[in-house]
Amino acid sequence: MQAQGHDVINLGIGQPDFRTPEHIVEAGRKALADGAHGYTPANGLPALREGVADDLAARHGLSGDTAVHPDRVVIVPGGKPTMFFACLMFGRPGVEILYPNPGFPIYESVINYTGATPVPIALREENGFAFDADTVLGQITDATRLIIINSPANPTGGVTPKAEIDKLVAGLADWPHVALLSDEIYSQMLYGGRDHVSLLSYPEIRDRLIVLDGWSKTYAMTGWRLGFAVWPDSMVEHVTRLCINDHSCVNAATQHAGLAALTGPQDAVRDMVAQFDRRRVAIVAALNDIPGLRCADPGGAFYVFPNIEGTGLGARAAQDLLLSDAHVASVAGTSFGAHGEGYLRFSYANSLENIETAMERIRTTLERRA
Ligand code: PLP
Repeated sequence: MQAQGHDVINLGIGQPDFRTPEHIVEAGRKALADGAHGYTPANGLPALREGVADDLAARHGLSGDTAVHPDRVVIVPGGKPTMFFACLMFGRPGVEILYPNPGFPIYESVINYTGATPVPIALREENGFAFDADTVLGQITDATRLIIINSPANPTGGVTPKAEIDKLVAGLADWPHVALLSDEIYSQMLYGGRDHVSLLSYPEIRDRLIVLDGWSKTYAMTGWRLGFAVWPDSMVEHVTRLCINDHSCVNAATQHAGLAALTGPQDAVRDMVAQFDRRRVAIVAALNDIPGLRCADPGGAFYVFPNIEGTGLGARAAQDLLLSDAHVASVAGTSFGAHGEGYLRFSYANSLENIETAMERIRTTLERRA
């Protein structure tokens, strides 16, 4: 539609609308100029793995039995490979893997790929789209090998409170054969005074915990392809072998840029988060003001997930109508699983001005239809 000259406002895409901060770009440029042209160790540059361990310690207050040794950090090209590798390690026919629904669609795809059975954990609006520990624990069976959780969450922006995480971890003591993949890629995008609760703060599950995080969202580096995960000691060798077989290593200059991101000034991150927060407040207020829509207040990430049942439209029909009539791109909640019916996802990684215009256009479209 844009190619045909339509002024489409894209609130569909899940990537920061900011450029990577200049000092990070410069570090990548310098690495190339200085000759960082060869392979690195498959699990990442030692300095970068140390940088990640230090950053995690500082951000999540880890020390003593929660400290992360750099040897447990594996650098990969983005957040996605960790999901894939974790599912490859645990998934096979006869195994059940629990995953959030609505949730990042890649989880279900890779579970299916391994032949394991995907078991959706329903996340509910009335619960702020947070994980409910009793629900998760109640879905574990003898066949369960892996549980995937994600907070702050895509597509809902939901944040799971510490009390539920405490309860989940305590309950897992009864299921020692079950591992946990905690996708914490939005760990620095929290609003309203919320603090991130990393699963790394629970030493009792460290031997079966994988924590995924990365640079894509925090430093506006989606296209650089850089992520990391902290793995249990017993799995590091296996995941490193997967890296060797899959991609050899993340390209060297990108790793140098990633180190500059961690060790350099963090004002650009703070500024981005502050801007996201202003947009979040604006979009939630605007959506709640449109007849037929109801939008919960998301605590993190950069998405809102309004309930559209009051419009009488299904998710897919609403997505298509907003695109064709209002020229606003969103994503049907059903793209994130069956429990997303009745919802749309809007990303507020767009300017305040575009968000305000988009909301006015949506109001006009829906009022005309009513
Ligand atoms: N995890 C979640 C919850 C995401 O929303 C995304 C990207 O949208 C990713 C992981 C993947 O990030 P990357 O682009 O680094 O692979």
